[in-house]
Amino acid sequence: MSISASGSPAPTDVTGRSGDTATASVTDRLVEANQRYAEAFQDPGMDARPVLKVAVVACMDARIDLHRALGLELGDCHTIRNAGGVVTDDTIRSLSISQRALGTRSVVLIHHTTCGLQSITEDFRTELEREVGQRPTWSVEAFTDIDQDVRQSMNRVRTSPFLAHTDDVRGFVFDVHTGLLREITNK
Ligand SMILES: [Zn+2]
Repeated sequence: MSISASGSPAPTDVTGRSGDTATASVTDRLVEANQRYAEAFQDPGMDARPVLKVAVVACMDARIDLHRALGLELGDCHTIRNAGGVVTDDTIRSLSISQRALGTRSVVLIHHTTCGLQSITEDFRTELEREVGQRPTWSVEAFTDIDQDVRQSMNRVRTSPFLAHTDDVRGFVFDVHTGLLREITNK
């Protein structure tokens, strides 16, 4: 955002959009797209249980189109996404509900190359605390060794006491340049 001569925030930046207007306009665009989607939508008559009985935990990265990358169709799977695709308490919460209430059996974990979490550290929390006067309760879950982080995520799933099915847990790194998955084996 630019600052006007009076010292107060200017209403628009160099792109001609203020922050608020830009947020509203992109959401409006999504709502319009939804109206077109709904016009062509036919109720598939599915229930909520994933057809393939699989839950996919992946990074929120915008370059990963999970359904297309894995050949998934509507209704096939649960997708649980967060920064890094890491297995946090909240990921376990979702997986517990996925398995115990909605019948999934397999877990697929997907990290990816050039993830944003490789370029920040736990200092992010300290910086936040300095800025807002409150320390986040959550861990950043930053990592430098992506293969090791996938292994750690697999271990967190396999050792969770809340999950009913931990025998089919596999982890991968998605290459954002080739679109290929590379499987991470246990060491
Ligand atoms: Zn990422």
